Formats: sequence, structure tokens, C-alpha cells
Amino acid sequence: MKRLLSVILAYLVFLTSPSFASRHMDFSVYKLGSNLPGNTLLVIGGIQGDEPGGFNAAALLTTHYKIKKGSVWVVPNLNFISIIKRSRGVYGDLNRKFAEIGRSDPEFNTISKVKRIILDDHVDLVLNLHDGSGFYRPTYVDRNHNPKRWGQSIIIDQEQLRKVQFGELDAIARQAAAVVNRHLFSAEHAYHVKNTWTKLGDMEMAKTLTYYAVRNLKPAFGVEVSKNFPTHKRAYYHLKVIEAYMDLLGIEYERSFSLSASGVKGAIYNNVKLAFYDNRIFLDVAHARKRLRFIPLRKSAEIVYTPSNPLIALVESDKGIRVFHGNRRITRIYPQYFEYDFSTENVTIQIDGQKRKAAFGEMLGVQESFMVVPKAGYRVNVIGFKKTGTSDEAGVIIGQEDIMKRFSVDKSGNIFRVEVYKNDKFSGMVLVNFSGENENLIASEPANTPLFSLSAKEKTSIAQDSPTPLGKGSNLGR
Ligand SMILES: [Zn+2]
Repeated sequence: MKRLLSVILAYLVFLTSPSFASRHMDFSVYKLGSNLPGNTLLVIGGIQGDEPGGFNAAALLTTHYKIKKGSVWVVPNLNFISIIKRSRGVYGDLNRKFAEIGRSDPEFNTISKVKRIILDDHVDLVLNLHDGSGFYRPTYVDRNHNPKRWGQSIIIDQEQLRKVQFGELDAIARQAAAVVNRHLFSAEHAYHVKNTWTKLGDMEMAKTLTYYAVRNLKPAFGVEVSKNFPTHKRAYYHLKVIEAYMDLLGIEYERSFSLSASGVKGAIYNNVKLAFYDNRIFLDVAHARKRLRFIPLRKSAEIVYTPSNPLIALVESDKGIRVFHGNRRITRIYPQYFEYDFSTENVTIQIDGQKRKAAFGEMLGVQESFMVVPKAGYRVNVIGFKKTGTSDEAGVIIGQEDIMKRFSVDKSGNIFRVEVYKNDKFSGMVLVNFSGENENLIASEPANTPLFSLSAKEKTSIAQDSPTPLGKGSNLGR
């Protein structure tokens, strides 16, 4: 994706120490900008790992928005390790560490780094995204709609910051809420402004990110969507709020999906792709099988991959490499290690009778059949091709029925791997997709992300995405 986008790359540090506390997954910072100067909005997602509405909305800003005027800075995965482990906070509540933090706290560096970003002179206004319980109401309605709930609120710590641009916190929050309240799925979902009056003695809220910003004269708002909704509807509301703020700040943008429940759902769940080693391997894992076997990774080299969005993490385990997308475990990759051959970047392939050149990493839509054009010195392996005993499948016209379905990358049996080798070395791979869709390479900018490693005892079981029922602990605020 060629866009005016500068990325401060976050490195996921690969550490081999057995102590969990010594490991650290750093967050990413995206600076989505334009040539036209203007205000800068900072959006932070994932301060607590079990609030997928917030971090998915923030991630979508980095993958599906183009900023045309002004800037949007995005931290989509502030508490990345807790996101992967679907925990509010593996090291405690990160949003209670902004007033005081000890040097020995494993999140000391995270806090220091995000504080610097918040206080950066460019940043005009900060949004910290949360998924909260129930529905906030200024007065008691019932158990799920009352002043102690957090969902569907815009939170301010105080009414205003004097003599600061965008310092009219209450007025701005009300304006944003009013805009969003024109786009509700149901009247019950209406947003209200919640003032925690932090300075007047709310000890808990005094420890939060927004109050740190406000203390330092930086306008900041907590944004809470209700945990009663499934993730894509939470992200929908967060994006509505974010867009309302962008409008308020005069930030202009384009979005590449329709802002509707189904539009957001597709944008979140269809964009889960991985490229390894400069696209020599490309896997669309959005709807992948539980296990992907014999993936030809590079022998005695660091595993380096590019994810299609900043919520993807690869975690090494004794049983293959687990692929996470936010709170969801997507698939498990079982590598087979090869020496790599770098003498070619593409194959010539005939698709439904039409000959074309395909770069490694492409996914090619096929209606009826394909055939890789033979090239001297190289051999082709179509993974799952039924006819055994052939060492080279170049020159063979292959239809979907000629490949065993269980070898597909996707659950529905449409996407298959076509691998090219030179002698015993792996040269590269393209995917053929019998559902007909062509796909371009990975769009996300973050590249060269090393693997993250967790030991077996730290495994967590990750359930499927679902609304969080109200219950014990559900009053935990932002
Ligand atoms: Zn929260």
C-alpha cells in the first residue's frame, strides 16, 4: 500500500529466557499523515487486553483509512501481550500505572514510551479506547443502565482545560456524542458524557492515561463501548466516535469499507494474512484450517514475517507456531525447514488458458484450471496434488478436483499452495484460489517482525469471540 504513512516500527523482541516477566512485546505506533498540515489526533487501543472493540477499531485505522488532511497517530496494541492472552492485564492493570510506576515494573518502558507520545507537541487530542460493562446512564435506570456502568460513554476527567486548544472537554465530548447518537442500532445504545471529576478525589481515575494527559494540559477522552455487543459492533461504535472527533479536528480521511455492522465485520475478519521472507511465502489465514503443515520456512535463519494488520502475532510453541489475531487464535503453522534459493522471483502460470507471470506471494483466482509453465532447473510441487509419483508438477493442467481438499489453506477447500523448488532449495510460493478471488500482497507496512516466544506453561485457552456477559467484575471501569 503506497500511502503517505510513516511507521515507527515496533520490534517484538525474541527472547529465550524462561522467565515470563522478562519477555516483552512492544506496541506499534502508526503516524498516518498527509501533505496537508492540520491537527493531530492520537488514538490508543488495547490498553487492556480483553477489550477487542477498542483495539480492532484502532487497527482498522491503520489498515483501512487514508488521512487526507491533518494526521492521526495510532497505537493499536498498547498492551499486546495481554491482547494475545485475552487478559485485562498480564502484569496488572496498565491503565492504573500512569501516576506512579516502579522501575522494576515489567511495563515501565511501555509507560515511559507511551507518555512521550502523548506529550509530543504534535498531538492535539487523545482518545483512549475501551470496552466497558453495560450502559452508562447519569441516573439509575436498572442494573445494566446506571451511573456505575461504563459502556456507551465518553469520559472526561474534568470539565475543561483552560487556555488549551480543544480544552473544552465537556462541550467537545457532548458534541461527539450527539453526532454518534444519530447512528445507533438501537436507542438503548445512546452515548452519554461521564465526568469522573478526577481532581476532586477519584483515586482510581487519577492513575489513568487520560488523567496523565489532562494533568499535562493535553485534551484527552476515554471512549467506552458496551461489552454487551459482539466485537464488530463495538468497533463500529468506536469508529463512529473517532470519525466524529476527526471531523471536529478538521482531519479529512478516506475509508475503504462501509461503516456498517457488516462492513466492519468484513474489514476485521477478512484481513488476516502473513508474508514470510519478502513474500516468498504468503498465507491468507483469515479462514485458515486449524493446522497448516509443512510450511517451508527458512533453515537456520530468524523467522521474519510481515502481518497484514498490527494485531497479528506469531507465538512459538513446542507444537508449531501459533498465529493470533487479537484475542483470537487463528491457526497453527508446522514448519518444514529448507535452504532457500533466491535465483527467481516469479513463475509463469497459465490460468484458465491465459498465460501470465505471477510474483511469489500472489494469490491467483482460478475458475477451471491452472498449469505452471515448466522452467529448466526448477520443479513445482502443488501441495495435495493427487497424482503421486510425480516429482515435478509443472506442465500439468490441474483443476480443483485434482487436489485433495484437506491440503487447502482455507477451511472451505478453495485455496492451495503452489511451491517452486530448485533442487532441494525452496524458491517461493503462489496461492491458487478456486473461489476466484485475486489478492494482492500484504498491505500493512510493518515488516520484519521477529517471532515471539512463550513457554508451554504460559499457554492460555482462547475462546471464540462473543459478547461478554455481565457478571462478576463487570463493574471494572476503563
Ligand atoms: Zn478498559
